[in-house]
Amino acid sequence: MSEVTNVEEIFGKNVFSLGKMKERLPKDVYKEVRKVMDQGGELSMAAANVVAKAMKDWAVENGATHFTHWFQPLTGITAEKHDAFVTHPDETGKMLTEFSGKELIKGEPDASSFPSGGLRATFEARGYTAWDITSPAFLKESACGVILCIPTAFCSYKGEALDKKTPLLRSMEALSEQAVRIVRLFGNTTATKVTASVGPEQEYFLVDKDLYMKRTDLMFAGRTLFGAPAPKGQEMEDHYFGVIKERVGAYMKDLNEELWKLGVTAKTQHNEVAPAQHELAPIYESANIAVDHNQLVMETMKRVAAHHNMRCLLHEKPYAGVNGSGKHDNWSITTDNGVNLLEPGDTPNENVQFLLVLACILKAVDKHADLLRQSASDVGNDHRLGANEAPPAIISVFLGEQLEDVVKQLVETGIAATAKEGGKLLTGVSTLPDLTKDATDRNRTSPFAFTGNKFEFRMVGSADSIASPNTTLNAIVAEAFCEAANELEKADDFDMAVHDLIKKYLTEHQRIIFNGNGYAEEWVAEAERRGLPNIKSMIEAAGTLTTDKAVALFEKFGIFTKTELESREEVLYETYAKTINIEALTMIDMASKQIIPAVMKYTKSLADTVVAVTAAGADATVQKETLKVVSAKLTEMKTALDKLQKAEDAAAAITEGKAQAFAYKDTVKEAMDELRAPADELEMLVDKAAWPFPTYGELMFEV
Ligand code: ADP
Ligand code: MG
Repeated sequence: MSEVTNVEEIFGKNVFSLGKMKERLPKDVYKEVRKVMDQGGELSMAAANVVAKAMKDWAVENGATHFTHWFQPLTGITAEKHDAFVTHPDETGKMLTEFSGKELIKGEPDASSFPSGGLRATFEARGYTAWDITSPAFLKESACGVILCIPTAFCSYKGEALDKKTPLLRSMEALSEQAVRIVRLFGNTTATKVTASVGPEQEYFLVDKDLYMKRTDLMFAGRTLFGAPAPKGQEMEDHYFGVIKERVGAYMKDLNEELWKLGVTAKTQHNEVAPAQHELAPIYESANIAVDHNQLVMETMKRVAAHHNMRCLLHEKPYAGVNGSGKHDNWSITTDNGVNLLEPGDTPNENVQFLLVLACILKAVDKHADLLRQSASDVGNDHRLGANEAPPAIISVFLGEQLEDVVKQLVETGIAATAKEGGKLLTGVSTLPDLTKDATDRNRTSPFAFTGNKFEFRMVGSADSIASPNTTLNAIVAEAFCEAANELEKADDFDMAVHDLIKKYLTEHQRIIFNGNGYAEEWVAEAERRGLPNIKSMIEAAGTLTTDKAVALFEKFGIFTKTELESREEVLYETYAKTINIEALTMIDMASKQIIPAVMKYTKSLADTVVAVTAAGADATVQKETLKVVSAKLTEMKTALDKLQKAEDAAAAITEGKAQAFAYKDTVKEAMDELRAPADELEMLVDKAAWPFPTYGELMFEV
């Protein structure tokens, strides 16, 4: 047995938490920090200096040698540039470590190489990082040693957001402001702030490192570009929630410990549907911290895998034919006096505030379904959304039986007299307790499902930052709250007005509610009849960022300017084109240098066998037949390879971003599929010993 872990002892060990600040800061400075954290504003330079010194002392006591402003550029991952706490030695050669308030608050990485979508040219490359006081600093332990990481936002010289955090923070403030207006209408005079809380469930695959290193596609693209199905996949449903293998268990134990030290509440772990696929879910927290923590989760997953001679695959579709990976984004909104606005209570039909909030969310999701879909798109997720895997690319909301019934009553009669109850679940065994049932069953096929006291946005991809989905959710709901508050604040008869408004919203937006099977073919047709958008790919969704509707929304709440939106759209086209370009080049490489040579050798040995067997006077029909089939497939493969090369050359030559992205989608991706088909068939025909890289069976079952 490995060592015992004391969770309480290690939890938050590497976080400069409020508790540590309270312990180490003078009372008045601590108070100032809390005030800025809770109410916004700026820390005085005097206070910043004190905080910086305390932070550095704590970090150095714990072995830190460097600090970094840790930020989240538009690459979707995090960035860091380490600075040692080293200063000029005095004349005796003695050096004292230092860290000032200025260094804490502001950084200026020469960050011209991050995607900016034209917001910055290299000659005007100044970018600034600004300390995000709402997310705690932490120590990252790695082979680099111990690094003090300070979560920061990243902006251009002109103040344009160059990262994922700035708009998220802006959206949280917008949502808070508008949601406070809503609760005020219902007599809540004490709430000053409403926070969006998020709990992301992270799915991932593990693969043996030695096998991984033999697969150029996994190394360069993070997913397999070739590979015939293994004889066994996920059909037995024996992996989901199955017993965790020892090697994976040891990994999960280390992973949890590393995360707990970082203050990440890693809570749930289990095997997922596909072989070698797993999930980790933390406890929900403020959206901003949840976004930072999810980045740490992804990073730590990769780092710890290396210690176990494995690699962690976060790609949305590492293997064709088995389940892909997503990241369910659980979202709710709570006042600072503890009211979850999404808590229906036992009688939601009587909970007018809840019904208004629900009606606003339905309106927001219906009006901005396109933006919500966009927010969950990345290159890898195109293999899930609307492809041969769920959830579908069509946004709809699942409310469950109880709420759907309440909505129906409201729409039809204007009054919801009753709420269906959950009742008792009879186990039928005298020694087992009967359980009280939830009023609503689950629906696993809905992209946006109400689950008790939160919404679960299931479209998000496993490799993606959750910043965009939550920014969009916050923004669209802030808008709906704002419009409702504008109406209701001026109403003479509030009860009447709110009743009418709920009915109006529900009636106008009920088309977004869908409780059926989201994976069914009929839903696609039904959704079309309802006029719901069905946006099939990431780059088709990218344009939704700059429609008049989107610009009006984001500018109204100061979340994005039009220029920022245009730059983000541009970055999406660029990212898409670059990613598919890498995939195509990797396929060309593997096909020409590995598969085709291996198959040629195999055909040569078959030909030799045919000659030898025939010369020996025996029947060589099987060998001849095999040779014929293999040679035919080889020809097919070579033709497809040439076609891919041509498509790739043509796409690479296009200079305009959007046109190039579409060329990659419409011609290069097509050609990639055409190359893969004969290659995978060949894998089934060729001697296993002759196949140049590990197969699906090995990759998924040898963990
Ligand atoms: P599931 O059964 O959906 O797989 P999990 O336990 O894996 O559930 O994940 C549920 C996630 O939802 C967790 O991260 C949990 O903390 C989060 N969650 C629970 N309640 C809320 C809430 N009110 N707001 C936001 N997230 C929540
Ligand atoms: Mg889960």
